[in-house]
Amino acid sequence: MSIQNESPSDRAKRVAKIKNSLDTIRQSINIDILTDEEGYIKAALEESFKAAQNGTYGIGAVVVDAKSKEIKGRGHNKLNDSQDPAFFVLHAEIDALRNYFSNNDRNVEDVVVYTTLEPCPMCAIALLNAGVKRVVAGASDRSGQLISHPNDLSPFWKEIMGKVDHRLFKGQPEFGKACKDIFELSRIGLDEMIAG
Ligand SMILES: [Zn+2]
Repeated sequence: MSIQNESPSDRAKRVAKIKNSLDTIRQSINIDILTDEEGYIKAALEESFKAAQNGTYGIGAVVVDAKSKEIKGRGHNKLNDSQDPAFFVLHAEIDALRNYFSNNDRNVEDVVVYTTLEPCPMCAIALLNAGVKRVVAGASDRSGQLISHPNDLSPFWKEIMGKVDHRLFKGQPEFGKACKDIFELSRIGLDEMIAG
C-alpha cells in the first residue's frame, strides 16, 4: 500500500514499529569510548532518529567547527513538514546548514559536516554552494553523488569537487551500520512517493 493512501491508524502502526526497531539500533551504538569523529556521527544519528520517529527518512546531520570542536548546527530530514512551503528541499544536510547559518557567519573555512548518509545530488551541490569543503558520511547510498559518483558531475562542478574533501566515515562499524539501518527502516513505503 502506498503512503498516500495510508490511513491514520496504519501510519501510527508503521511509526510505532519503527520506534521499536530504533531502540534496538540505539543499543548497538551505546559505546562508552568514542573518538571525536564517532561522537559527531553519533550526534548525527540522534538527529536521524528524530526524522524516523516523525515518519520520514531517517537521515541526520551536524555541522562542526573543527577549531573549537563544537557542534554548531543540527538537522534532520523534514520532507514531511506540512508548514514549510520549501518542504521538498528539507533534507538533513540543508536543515543542518540552515540551522548553522542562522546562528553563525558565512565563513565555513573550518566547518565539517557529518551526515548519516552520503549526500544526494541536491545536497551535494548545496554543500558546495555553501562553501563547505569537508563532509563525512556515515554510510554510502545508491543516490549518493559526492562520494560514490563524483565523475558523473558536469565539468563545472567536477572541478570544484576536486578541491574538496568528501569521504565516508572510517570509525567503529556499528555507527556506519546504524546509519544505514535507520535509513532502510524508515524508507519502507516512502520511496513510492518520490516515484509518484
Ligand atoms: Zn539530500
